[in-house]
Amino acid sequence: MIEISPDIAFIEKLQGATGSQLTTCMQCGACTASCSLSEDQDVFPRKQMIMAAWGMRDRLMADPHVWTCHQCGDCSVSCPRGVKPGEILAALRQEQIVHYSKPAFLARWMQKPAFFPAAILFPAAIIILILSLAGTFSIPEGPVDYSEFFSHAWLNGSFTALFVLSTIGAVIGLRRFTRNVFTQRTVQKTNPDKPDQGQSPQAPQPALRGILTVLGRIMSHRDFNSCDEQKSRSVTHFLVFWGFILLLFVTFFAILSTIFFEYPLSILNPIKIAGNLGAMMLLAGSSFMILNRLRKRDQSNYADWFFLLSFWLLTFSGMLVEGARFHEWSFAYHLYFFHLVMVWIIILYYPYTKFAHFLYRTVAMIITRSGRQAG
Ligand code: SF4
Ligand code: SF4
Repeated sequence: MIEISPDIAFIEKLQGATGSQLTTCMQCGACTASCSLSEDQDVFPRKQMIMAAWGMRDRLMADPHVWTCHQCGDCSVSCPRGVKPGEILAALRQEQIVHYSKPAFLARWMQKPAFFPAAILFPAAIIILILSLAGTFSIPEGPVDYSEFFSHAWLNGSFTALFVLSTIGAVIGLRRFTRNVFTQRTVQKTNPDKPDQGQSPQAPQPALRGILTVLGRIMSHRDFNSCDEQKSRSVTHFLVFWGFILLLFVTFFAILSTIFFEYPLSILNPIKIAGNLGAMMLLAGSSFMILNRLRKRDQSNYADWFFLLSFWLLTFSGMLVEGARFHEWSFAYHLYFFHLVMVWIIILYYPYTKFAHFLYRTVAMIITRSGRQAG
């Protein structure tokens, strides 16, 4: 017989975060019938809803299937009891990120509006400290030249260090996640009566073909097209995803340019054109996402809004910073400082925001796929 010790606080937290009537789930299966993913996954998401209603937090923290959901909302519409499976799964993904994060306090800052001042002031204070150490924390005289305010050497050095530190945090979180998933799987196979104990096993190596298939699915946004309720999300997500990838390449080239070539680049330089195209894709995609979420406010939590608005402000302020340089605006350096804070926010918190979703989702999809192949 399986022993279950319901985590009541966990059930209340899920219900509070989503407005779900979780404990009224009657296991009718309407959510599974409406989910396009349920064809190749066992009673998804009905199984996750019963585990959530029973407060099986440890099992759910080790469930990679919650990451395969792309929050189309079809199941929530079809649920007759107001359980909102799509929203519950989104809350579970957020809960997993906090559960596995190191340092955990940064992840907690992304969860509650009470931490908003700290989340903003922390990166701003560090940038001021760096500028003070570099001896350039003042508005330069003459034509607008951002390297007079933040030299390329200090900019590249500090932002690279930040990215490396954040990535170490992301890798630690992913490693803890995969270990827990495989531990839980082994426990389930060998000792179903004790679901929350066991030794860490060796994770099976997923086949290269499986990894490529998952990456192909993510990059093509194929799963989004199967949504009935929110089909337009595939376009907005596609714009944001590829706009960001384009900007990532451009940023990499810009860093090289500051070292080996001439910088800033002319407005007609192909790299500059690619950068502006990426920024417009990002701005258009994130603007539509914000409008979409304003229409369906009950499907967004604070962490979603924090990330989305930061992302939008990052892109918009980047475009203004470019315009301020060309037109010699008097407040160009103030805009530039604001833009730098936004860049720091995105990089510093990426292991704990929607960016982390891309990492966890990729790993979880590879795990679930390799699990099916193994089975
Ligand atoms: S979550 Fe809703 S649709 Fe799914 S099994 Fe429970 S009551 Fe039925
Ligand atoms: S939100 Fe969409 S993808 Fe996620 S479980 Fe519901 S129907 Fe499936």
